[in-house]
Amino acid sequence: EAKRRDKNGWTLFEETMDQQYSERQRMKLELREAVRTNSMGLFYQPMFNPAGTQVAGAEALSRWHHPQLGPVSPAIYIPLAEEMGIIGDLTRCVIEKAVGDCVSWPGELFVSVNLSAHDLSDRTIVSVITDALDRYNLAPERLQLEITESGLMNDLEVARDILTELRAMGMQIAIDDFGTGYSSLSYLDILPLNKVKIDRSFVRNLAEDAKKLKLLRGVVHLARELGLDVVVEGVETEEQLVMIRENNCADLIQGYIFGTPMPKGAFLELATKLSKAGVTKAGSDARLL
Ligand code: C2E
Ligand code: MG
Ligand code: MG
Ligand code: MG
Repeated sequence: EAKRRDKNGWTLFEETMDQQYSERQRMKLELREAVRTNSMGLFYQPMFNPAGTQVAGAEALSRWHHPQLGPVSPAIYIPLAEEMGIIGDLTRCVIEKAVGDCVSWPGELFVSVNLSAHDLSDRTIVSVITDALDRYNLAPERLQLEITESGLMNDLEVARDILTELRAMGMQIAIDDFGTGYSSLSYLDILPLNKVKIDRSFVRNLAEDAKKLKLLRGVVHLARELGLDVVVEGVETEEQLVMIRENNCADLIQGYIFGTPMPKGAFLELATKLSKAGVTKAGSDARLL
């Protein structure tokens, strides 16, 4: 049996190189088919205020359930889709679903979509986004775009121009996985950002390693100096949460402690309970922990 699962349920592979090669070729064909037939799934992970009493919005995360292999990690198929030149089609499907779903969410909740560097290499993305917003009649303010630093370098000027245009329409722009290997402080200068999403490597071992807190506080300070909101990703434990609160390190928190990625129905239920209007009604009982 060549297939195993890791603790998150993602399929792992342990195969000879020949098997790996043909497995990969087959996976490419199947990925192309899944994208073409619009059969990729979409989960939503909530972003909360630090108190955990209110949902502000959600990140849309694509999911691929392979008929034989089961769930395949985006860490595997996103790079594959980029390599195959079909990431634009995948992004289009995600935007279409995310914008369509967000329309039925309460109040001002936003939806956040990941863009790949390739999506920002030409202007096609502008009409893909504006078409979807128009068709569903969603305010641009309710759409957030997440950009990772990796690979942006080549087309930085094009990417900046596209993002500036989208930002001018009212969309929110977030830099994702901030502080990881790819990151460059110059992006904070060049790109028209509203938000920084701090990578979860700053949160891991936060309680054990005193240096981590210093790094986190420093990055948060930098972001706020620039007038950017801070989302802290990957908060898993009560200890981490307390430290982040006590040091005022987050405007929003996204992590397993408050909510894992979930199907749209489950997110709508949560959001309805914990949107601004819902919280006023539910009072302080609405706190999640
Ligand atoms: P990301 O954009 O940084 O998304 C956050 C990832 O962190 C998600 O993994 C999420 O499930 C995970 N996560 C959230 N909270 C926690 C936590 O408390 N602990 C831990 N250990 N993990 C947490 P996921 O869904 O596996 O996605 C991985 C990456 O794949 C994403 O990182 C994103 O870069 C990429 N990705 C996913 N969907 C899409 C998509 O539709 N388009 C593009 N271009 N990239 C996508
Ligand atoms: Mg993201
Ligand atoms: Mg991230
Ligand atoms: Mg990430």
